[in-house]
Order: sequence, then structure tokens, then C-alpha cells
Amino acid sequence: MRQARAAPPIDIDSNETDTPHMNGDLTGLPAAPLPHDAVAAPSTPVTAPASRDRRKALRRMGAVVLSFPALPALAAGVAGAATIVAVRVWPASDYTRVTIESDRQLAAKSFMAANPDRLVIDIDGLELNAGLKELLGKVKPDDPYIAGVRVGQNQPRVVRIVLDLKQAVAPQVFTIEPVAAYKNRLVLDLHPTRERDPLLDLVREKEAAESAAAQSVNDALGELIGRIDRPQTAASSAESAASAAALPPQRPASAVARIETPPPPAPPLKEVAPEMSQSKLDRLIVIAIDPGHGGEDPGAIGPTGLREKDVVLAIGKKLRDRLNANPRIRVMMTRDADFFVPLGERVRKARRVQADLFVSIHADAFITPKARGASVFALSTSGASSTAARWMADKENAADVIGGVNSKAVKDAGVLRAMLDMSTSAQIKDSLKLGGEVLGQIGKLAKLHKGSVEQAGFAVLKAPDVPSILVETAFISNPEEEAKLRDPDYQDDLVKALATGIARYFAKNPPLAARHRAL
Ligand SMILES: [Zn+2]
Repeated sequence: MRQARAAPPIDIDSNETDTPHMNGDLTGLPAAPLPHDAVAAPSTPVTAPASRDRRKALRRMGAVVLSFPALPALAAGVAGAATIVAVRVWPASDYTRVTIESDRQLAAKSFMAANPDRLVIDIDGLELNAGLKELLGKVKPDDPYIAGVRVGQNQPRVVRIVLDLKQAVAPQVFTIEPVAAYKNRLVLDLHPTRERDPLLDLVREKEAAESAAAQSVNDALGELIGRIDRPQTAASSAESAASAAALPPQRPASAVARIETPPPPAPPLKEVAPEMSQSKLDRLIVIAIDPGHGGEDPGAIGPTGLREKDVVLAIGKKLRDRLNANPRIRVMMTRDADFFVPLGERVRKARRVQADLFVSIHADAFITPKARGASVFALSTSGASSTAARWMADKENAADVIGGVNSKAVKDAGVLRAMLDMSTSAQIKDSLKLGGEVLGQIGKLAKLHKGSVEQAGFAVLKAPDVPSILVETAFISNPEEEAKLRDPDYQDDLVKALATGIARYFAKNPPLAARHRAL
């Protein structure tokens, strides 16, 4: 084995003829195991003269390529280099996706290399061009997974992309056939090697908020103690507290006020705080908020260009903040940024945190721009409650196709479907109650498309044990409703209606005591 070079300085453009050598430089790996080595023959010039190598290489590429010298025009049309239409990067803490869109399907091989971690992708039938080089500028410094990108013409017709990584990843590289507005897509998904535990995240987030609150009390207390020269009585302590409250501008008055009562300080607070947080956690209500679409799937687009995925994320975040203001509630967002989440993954996320509720937020388009009004949907296992409901469910269920799900990765799709089809009538009954409360509140501020909760086979509502609704907040295809959706004040009103509907549901249907979360 040839020694790999440490910290390879890459000059992939200048090295075009020395392919095996370059492989070593580019990846830190010896050249031999690379999949395209058979094509790159110049390393054995005596037994394999260039012309023979070329024939050999061309043979491997297929008969169509052999026609290239004779019929360049035809060859360019049939088997010439693919044209890159666009490159997109969707960074998120869940995973980062890189999409390379082209006018024909790209064949790619990929492998991971370590020390430092890199993902190397060789794309066949491609010439390095400006479109692909755009990728370099599209990776943001705060991308959770990608530290940098290098692109080079590894061989004639083979472009090598090296993603320098911030951490080891479990990559998924796959292609998607043309669909909707997209041509062929080559997708590189960089998943973490260890999946985050969303429930643990929620608990940590809650603990961090509580300890920050406790810390601010302790800080005030520490400052107060620092100002006291000798042991004090409760009365003089309160006096000092009052003066302390007057002095430091950053101390919230309420925090200082609280320390007036306990006599000399720290121990009582430390004892009380964990008890409080534990009792709160035991009764924690977890609500899954699911902003529809995201990433490659823009959802519906309004007449002036407002995208459903953006507006529902904004509404979802506002709803999260409003609900999280209640210390008994913690919200889990199925997505909190602009990235694609498969429908089944949304359901799985909700179940992993044992959510008490699942609320999917949308703002769709209809065939006619005149369609208007909000709708609330629950699951149906036996046909849709109306043609429009079925149409809407079909449209929402197509999100996976447009967003780009890796069908190979969903090996257990059958098992998953069977599990989801176990959706109980109890879930649907609760979902209808929840939907009714939410619809009642939305009806106070917006026109309703239909006065009752509709039902259809929405894939995203299929958690068998979580009451789940899908709210179509408005028709983004309607110019007036698009304008409303864009308006932050209207978004606030909508969020208030959703939160009130949820609160009314819980008031009438308290979360089961049995639903304790194992922490
Ligand atoms: Zn939608």
C-alpha cells in the first residue's frame, strides 16, 4: 500500500494526466481500490499504449461513446457530457442535503475517507463546468456537516467532488427521476452517524432554560452576598436586596424579589430547583408541530411568489414559541429550518417523543385561484369525506416524490406502512375533537372552506397513537389569502387561534397520566 499523504494540498486541476497519483492526493487513499481505475489506464504505458487504453476505456463506457469521433454532433446529443441545471445545498442539524440537478441522469460512485473525514463522489459522464463550480459558493460556514467543497475533473468525463466534513457522516447518494419542475437529480444526503435523540433534546432544552433561570437568581444572590460584610438578619438582607435591585440594570426585578424571603441563601435554592424541574417533567405535554414541505419541496406557491414551505415554517415557529411559554408544554418541531423531511419521518419523530398531539401546518393551492378559506383535516382509513379532501390528501402525499425521498433507504417501507395502517379509531376520534376545537377558533378570524373537520388518507396523520390534524391555514393560490398569510399580524392571529384550540382540547381531554415519558 502506498502511503497516503497527510493533509493533502489539493490542486486537482493541474494534475489531470496523472490520475492515479491524483487520487491519492485528493482523497488520502491509495489509487488502487478506486472504482474507475480500470478506465484510467495511463499508469502502464509499455503494455498498454495510449490508443489501446482509449479503446479499452471507451468500450467500458458503452457502444454509443464509440461513435463520438465520427459523429460529434450526434454523440453530444446522446452521450455527451450532461449539463448541470442547478446545484442546491440544504443544511440542517438533522442532515445536510446537496442536490445536483442535470438534464440527464448522472451515474455516481461515492466513498468515505477518514483522517480527515471526507465524502468523495465521482460522477460519470460529466465535464467540469461553471454550474458545478457554483457548489463551492453554496456551502455556508455554519453548515453542520460540510467544512468545504472541492470539485475537479478527475478524468475525462469523470468529475470528482470532495466534501470535506466537520464530522463523520452516514451518506446516502441516490438519484431521482424528473418530477414536477425538476429535471434529473443526484442527491447527496449527509446524515449523522449517530441519530440525535429528540426527546433528550427536549429535556435538555427545558433543563437549560430552567438552569438559566436558576442561574440568574443565583447571580443576583451571589452579588448580594458579595455586598454583605457580615452575617445578616432576614430584615437587613431584604434591605440589601432592595438596594441590589436598584443597582444592577440587568437583574430582573422579580428574580431579586424572590431572594428576599429565604434567609442566607444557596442551599435552599439548590434543593428546591431539581424538585421543581422533576415534577414539571413528569407532567410535560409534548406537542409535535409539523410545518409542511421544506427543502426541495416548496409546497404551493402564491401568485406573487410566496412559498408555502416558508410561510408555514414562520407560523410553526410562532406557534412553538407561544406554546412553549407554558412551562408544562414543550414543542418538538419536525423541521425548524428549510429542509426536506419525508412524511414517514415526520410521523416517526412525533412518536419518538411520544407526542400528545401532532399538528401539521399547510397553506395550499387549489385548481382555481378563487378557492379560499381554512380547512382542518383528520385521518380517514375508509375513503375521503369529500372529493376535495381526497384531492388535498393526494397532493400532500406527493411531497415525498417532489422533496426527494431515498426509496432504497426505506427498506422497511412495507413494515412501516403496516404499522401506520394500524391507526386506531380512537386516534381518529381524538383527532376529530382536536380538529373541531381548532376549526372553531380559526372560524373566528378567517373564512372556513368547510364548517366541519374533513377526513382523508393523509400519510402524515398516520401515527396510530397520536391525535393528529392537518391545518390548511388558507389557500395561498388566492391573492387575498396570500396577502394575509404574508402579514405577520395575521400570522399572529392564526397562531393564537391554533394555540387556543389546542388549549381547549386539553382542557376537555387531559393528557393521560399513563403517558409518562421514560427519561
Ligand atoms: Zn401543503
